[in-house]
Amino acid sequence: MAETVTNWAGNITYAAGELHRPHSRDALRALVAESAAVRVLGSGHSFNEIAEPGAHGVLLSLDGLPAEIDVDTAARTVRVGGGVRYARLADAVHAHGLALANMASLPHISVAGSVATGTHGSGVGNGPLAAAVREVELVTADGSVLVIGRGDARFGGAVTALGALGVVTALTLDLEPAFEVEQHVFTELPHAGLDFEQVAGAAYSVSLFTDWRAPRFGQVWLKRRTDQPLGSFPWAAPATEKLHPVPGMPAVNCTEQFGVPGPWHERLPHFRAEFTPSSGQELQSEYLMARSDAPKALDALDRVRDTIAPVLQICEVRTVAADEQWLSPAYGQDSVAVHFTWIADTAAVLPVVRVVEEALEPFGARPHWGKVFATPAARVRALYPRLDDFAALVRELDPAGKFTNAFVRGVLEG
Ligand SMILES: Cc1cc2nc3c(=O)[nH]c(=O)nc-3n(C[C@H](O)[C@H](O)[C@H](O)COP(=O)(O)OP(=O)(O)OC[C@H]3O[C@@H](n4cnc5c(N)ncnc54)[C@H](O)[C@@H]3O)c2cc1C
Repeated sequence: MAETVTNWAGNITYAAGELHRPHSRDALRALVAESAAVRVLGSGHSFNEIAEPGAHGVLLSLDGLPAEIDVDTAARTVRVGGGVRYARLADAVHAHGLALANMASLPHISVAGSVATGTHGSGVGNGPLAAAVREVELVTADGSVLVIGRGDARFGGAVTALGALGVVTALTLDLEPAFEVEQHVFTELPHAGLDFEQVAGAAYSVSLFTDWRAPRFGQVWLKRRTDQPLGSFPWAAPATEKLHPVPGMPAVNCTEQFGVPGPWHERLPHFRAEFTPSSGQELQSEYLMARSDAPKALDALDRVRDTIAPVLQICEVRTVAADEQWLSPAYGQDSVAVHFTWIADTAAVLPVVRVVEEALEPFGARPHWGKVFATPAARVRALYPRLDDFAALVRELDPAGKFTNAFVRGVLEG
């Protein structure tokens, strides 16, 4: 009987219909070689059709392969299999006294799927999660194995690659010595008079949350490394109870607050690894633009907040340091990332997404590849100066376009 395969949010049902789970690398290579169209489904946390191979294509999960996590303590690196999720990786790395530089808000997402879409956490000094990748191992269209490492001229296209180059079977990531983080939550930071640079730089990782119902950030989450100097945060009041970013939601699933120091992987995500949401009643969109434009971009959104607020659960503003992946939304510029958790109603949300995109257009806002967006392909293309180099890399590694689905075709061809 045909399976129904959906993404985590349930807003996408894959036309491919069946999820193939090869149990060995050889079986994976054979399946890729013999198939005409292939896409990998990671942990399915994207909100659009980026993973869809089409009705006649093969949708592949790497969950059947051994979950390889191989830490090299001397080199301070880890080799991680293509299906592994951050929660499991972080535990293994921490057990060796080592750490990843940063994590996204949720630890349940797969590493390969995250870096493929430019997923990021926050911090003026922290690049996207892909910045930690030093080597990618791919099974390419003919079933052969290709390794592309830093120093290879193709590396800039190889990590944040939207799944278009092949099946990522392993990644090697940089690590650093384990560190501790304290999480402090503040409330009611007014938009008026906000010095964005100072606020965003007030800790290792800073997230500002607003529901756009009023011109203020209802919450500010600071994640401070205990091995770095503690600055003050004079602009807002400390929270008096443990909070969830979405007002009214139970804080029990959130990582520890009130400045209790703890290991990096139990503070950098907003949500605890032990809490496993099986599906989400939400949609998400996110846009990255130059951090220097943050005040003007927030003003532009403030002007349409009456349109945004009715379909919004919460908006989160973070920062991302520039990186060098050609298709990274933070490519070449220190960025501000404005994220929207919408209600789970595509018809109601899409018109508002267009309003947000219009408001952010003057700032050259690049949409997050894994979230809902309506930016016309031609405009997206214009935002990526190395797009032609990426298209050339796709042609080199996959001349017949086995991994080029409709989503990727839209990006490459406009
Ligand atoms: C609750 C929630 C919280 C989130 N928080 C953040 C956040 O803090 N920051 C942020 O930037 N984003 C965030 N996201 C977005 C999320 O990180 C991205 O959508 C990311 O791509 C998810 O990885 P995945 O494996 O689930 O992706 P999938 O949707 O499964 O796949 C994404 C893409 O990667 C490709 N892919 C996956 N694995 C492989 C592989 N092994 N080889 C080749 N291609 C592969 C897929 O084909 C697809 O193109 C969040 C999403 C959710 C639902």
